[in-house]
Amino acid sequence: MFNFQKEISFLTKQHLARNLVPIDSRQSTTLKQNGRIFLQFSSNNYLGLADHSTLKSAAIAAIQNWGVGGGSSRLVTGNSRLYVELENRIAKFKNTESALVFSSGYAANIGSIGALVQKGDIIFADRLCHASLIEGARLSGATLRVYHHKDTEQLGRLLQKRKVKDKTLIVTDGVFSMDGDITPLPEILRLAEEHNAFVYLDDAHSTGVLGPHGQGTCDHFGLINSRIIQMGTLSKALGGLGGFIASDQSLIEYLINRARPFIYTTALPPSVLATSIAALDLIGKDPSIRKQLWRHTNQVRKHLNQIGFNTCGSETPIIPIRVGKTETALDFSRKLLDEGIYIPAIRPPTVPDGTSRLRISLMASHTDEQIQFLLVTLEKIGKELRLI
Ligand SMILES: *Cc1c(COP(=O)(O)O)cnc(C)c1O
Repeated sequence: MFNFQKEISFLTKQHLARNLVPIDSRQSTTLKQNGRIFLQFSSNNYLGLADHSTLKSAAIAAIQNWGVGGGSSRLVTGNSRLYVELENRIAKFKNTESALVFSSGYAANIGSIGALVQKGDIIFADRLCHASLIEGARLSGATLRVYHHKDTEQLGRLLQKRKVKDKTLIVTDGVFSMDGDITPLPEILRLAEEHNAFVYLDDAHSTGVLGPHGQGTCDHFGLINSRIIQMGTLSKALGGLGGFIASDQSLIEYLINRARPFIYTTALPPSVLATSIAALDLIGKDPSIRKQLWRHTNQVRKHLNQIGFNTCGSETPIIPIRVGKTETALDFSRKLLDEGIYIPAIRPPTVPDGTSRLRISLMASHTDEQIQFLLVTLEKIGKELRLI
């Protein structure tokens, strides 16, 4: 028999129950909840584009010209000209022949991995890969082997051991979403070349953020290589919604025919597509937003490390503070709320047992005063909880 209440009580006892809380403000550096205003340090809206006037104007114009709904699947009549324009822009941005937009990053991952490999093939995935990548791997039916976080030596050994005829995909995040560190892409690519594998790179947190042009992990390492299948999302730094794959033309044509979450779903609303086009325009034209994000990032990380917090090797605007016990992480988060700062505790199963943490994410649009208040408050509570 189903007994949902019992399952939930079980979670509650372990401090693992989750609940939805309504937010009464737009996506910005502050948020309103239960009538109170908090400083927001937990959004993936890294460049502040989710509430940017240029993007809003683009969305409004698209609604006037194209209406509000996608109408039908892209393979039927939902494939508006805006899709073509957006995909051309993405391909240019990612230095690839072609690109394909999905309804979300999640759909891009489960759809693409599910189409690229099947039963009898093999996937090697970093242990800290995003849930949607693992989901895609499971759905594909391929054999899934997990290697220790960023451990390319182990990956090399596993590649060596496999049967050579197995079609092989190495799956990794570009920036790891709960640790904020960067994948060792050059070494992974070298192994892929040596063992005739492909690399599936999830650039959800890197697109718009990482690299001299904000193009992502390949840009960061100065790599262009068609062995790397680049996935990204339009929902984080780009401020809107959608996911994509950027790669060779032949792979894109294959996905159009084989990726079920691409085929059997309605096209995105035109306004959402127009928003992403405007975001890519802005990122190309105005590097100052990204520079401001990195100025905050370097300042916060340096300071937190100096005062003795464990920031999990973060190198990006995602800066965790590792606490360990779930209860302590929740306590830390509650004390921050009392001070007017919103930073959620991240608990298992999102992160491994015993590694509960606070996860700070920074935005270009935070002011220096907001950053200063964050640092002072984290230090005060860190001392109270004897973490530093
Ligand atoms: C957020 C995220 C996704 C999913 O992207 P959505 O566009 O939010 O569906 C995929 N991979 C990683 C690493 C993510 O952080």
